[in-house]
Amino acid sequence: MSLLITGSIALDSVKTPIEEHHDLLGGSASYASIAASFFSPVNMVGVVGSDFPKKYLDLYRQRGVNLDGLQVVEGKTFRWSGEYEWDLNRRRTLSVALNVFETFNPTLPAHYAATPFVFLANISPQLQMHVLGQVKAPKFVVADTMDLWIETAREPLRELLRRIDCLVLNESEAREFTKQTSLIKAGRQILRMGPKYVVIKKGEHGSLLFSHDLFFSAPAYPLEDIHDPTGAGDCFAGALAGYLARAGKVSHETLRKAVIHGSVVASYCVEAFSLKRLEQLTLAEIEQRYQLIKQMSHFEAA
Ligand code: AMP
Repeated sequence: MSLLITGSIALDSVKTPIEEHHDLLGGSASYASIAASFFSPVNMVGVVGSDFPKKYLDLYRQRGVNLDGLQVVEGKTFRWSGEYEWDLNRRRTLSVALNVFETFNPTLPAHYAATPFVFLANISPQLQMHVLGQVKAPKFVVADTMDLWIETAREPLRELLRRIDCLVLNESEAREFTKQTSLIKAGRQILRMGPKYVVIKKGEHGSLLFSHDLFFSAPAYPLEDIHDPTGAGDCFAGALAGYLARAGKVSHETLRKAVIHGSVVASYCVEAFSLKRLEQLTLAEIEQRYQLIKQMSHFEAA
């Protein structure tokens, strides 16, 4: 089944202690759409400015992403820049310019309205709800968020939580949002706010999946070479949503597998800057790491 994805589409500048690159393809919707495209057809909703390079549009097309809901308008594309420390878990945002996103108020193409699966990648909760409101009877809705919206748009975020099936967020965001030090308490508290499922990402330490009758602690792939962690969270959630859309139904088993597929695609994403590694990625490579994680986390003979 197909998956609708909205979120940011950006030109990023990223600096690590070793390398620095400018005008990279970035944004939550870019990472999520490319990640999801390995599993399901993707209908993208977003906006770019007239400065957006054609080669990046070609990259979406090569991955089969439907761009009927992508607006190209006069002006500048969303821009973000960030800098990592030697501990690549630590990142500082240097600048953000919303540019064409400031006035983005999309009307979905008619054929998008019946998309059964939806992933609201990180962008303001108001925009996430505006897009979701135009999808008729979605089967399953996943949403991501970030500290900025927890701090500046708490009420819209609470409203969003009542309308989605699954929230994905990282551990520091979960703690900040719930004011809990324990991730277990934080996960349970978010469940009480509306979604049936909550996934808390713990970076290189894996993730936790919660529902009222399910708890799953998923390992991360033990990667040695990380070049750029940007977009790992978006790839994780995009692949998770894409995997669910491919399965066409949501059960405890598909959710567990979806979370592991999320970890696998995220592990490839961070091996190179921007979407460079995912451009080359194959389904066979995804399957290979999936099997390795399965072996690695198995501890009792059947
Ligand atoms: P992540 O590493 O998963 O946090 O995602 C990084 C991506 O998020 C980058 O490519 C940025 O362009 C994008 N991004 C940064 N700030 C925002 C924001 N306020 N809203 C939406 N996307 C953002």
